[in-house]
Amino acid sequence: MSITLKDIQNNGVVGAGGAGFPTHVKLQAEPEYIIVNAAECEPLLHKDMQLLEFYGDAFIDGLNQVIKITNATSAIIGIKSKHESIIANLQKKITANIKICPMDDFYPAGDEITLIHQTTGRIVEPGQLPISQGCIVQNVETIINIALNKPIVEKFLTIAGEVKNPMTVKVPVGTTFAQVLEYFEITTKNYIIREGGMMMGTVQTNLDAVVTKRTGGLIILPTDHNCAVTYKRYSEPKNTIRIAKAACDQCNFCTELCPRYLLGYPVRPELAMRNIMFSSDDDQRINIGNAFCCECNLCTLFSCPEGLDPAGATFIEKRVAQEQEKWQGLPVKAHPMMPYRKVPTKKLMQRLDVLKYQDKGPLQSIQFNPVFVRIPLLQHIGATAKAVVVVGQHVKKYDLIGEAKTGISANIHASINGTVTVANEKEIVIERRL
Ligand code: SF4
Ligand code: SF4
Repeated sequence: MSITLKDIQNNGVVGAGGAGFPTHVKLQAEPEYIIVNAAECEPLLHKDMQLLEFYGDAFIDGLNQVIKITNATSAIIGIKSKHESIIANLQKKITANIKICPMDDFYPAGDEITLIHQTTGRIVEPGQLPISQGCIVQNVETIINIALNKPIVEKFLTIAGEVKNPMTVKVPVGTTFAQVLEYFEITTKNYIIREGGMMMGTVQTNLDAVVTKRTGGLIILPTDHNCAVTYKRYSEPKNTIRIAKAACDQCNFCTELCPRYLLGYPVRPELAMRNIMFSSDDDQRINIGNAFCCECNLCTLFSCPEGLDPAGATFIEKRVAQEQEKWQGLPVKAHPMMPYRKVPTKKLMQRLDVLKYQDKGPLQSIQFNPVFVRIPLLQHIGATAKAVVVVGQHVKKYDLIGEAKTGISANIHASINGTVTVANEKEIVIERRL
């Protein structure tokens, strides 16, 4: 069956790897290569590998649909070579226009710019999009969603950390974290939830937060875990600034291991720290190149021997730099030491103190029956969808409840059968019909 851009648009498909960019917009480009992000580099998350193992046929079908829609020459699957059995299975299914690129096991292998460099040898210049190098990047789950050709009303995610049985599950969009975690035995009393990954995720203490089309995982950590303490300490920029002013010895490790710096980008976390140290309130120095930080957090959570927050300092500069004029530097070139400075995932996990957790997340078929779902009308990059249902209306799973606005936006659908109890410009609440 041929799937069209219109089908993808109608189904509300968005990037499931975390970015949430509407897929029908992305696929309007005419790339040379479709690069599949199967690098899955966030410690403890296993969703994409589980999907490749159990939905391999749908994945290859979806990938061929994407190649056809975009007229791409071929697709390259960037996947870590350690996943030998998954690669062997994919080898049996792929057609001549699809190649597999086995990668080392390092972080952040899944960063879009790093992935393109690893799979094609090309470097996307600072401030440019992947299409400037003839590439578009698609995540594994997004490709499977294209093949399944149904409205996106469920999300795969890994639950890991302080839980008895870590696993990957499929959850109706809009289910609260509290309702998800009812199915898990949490092995610590006081905990935080790291949503989306140890490195690039966010801390969520509110159990009323909901699963969206972008949620990739929930990691449960004790509140006194090293990382939980670090996340808390640096959740306030004032702490980042206060500690930077007092303690950075300018050893440069943060920059020397920065994946963007190693690709030749003008990202310099040590300069962000120095700027904080030597700027006064009315003389803020700024390194405009820090606009291209990918927010991988490696410098704070791995590289800095002093436990400082160069990532936070860089984010502060990034927000300001993005408002300033465009980067006009020379074409970039990878650092000659780059191949030697990939941070191995196991080493990273040791530093994060998560080796003690079961590093697995088998796909399990759990039937989640939330009594209600709270579905945000903005689960994507772009404009918020417009509610097209009213309070009291009965809806069925897959019904359209939020219509995409013109431009960059995405449709939203009901994830359960039920009655609408809230419908406003931000969200739709549906209570299950019993
Ligand atoms: S932030 Fe840390 S790693 Fe970076 S220069 Fe300062 S002390 Fe060194
Ligand atoms: S978070 Fe740190 S290591 Fe990562 S890209 Fe930004 S500056 Fe570089």
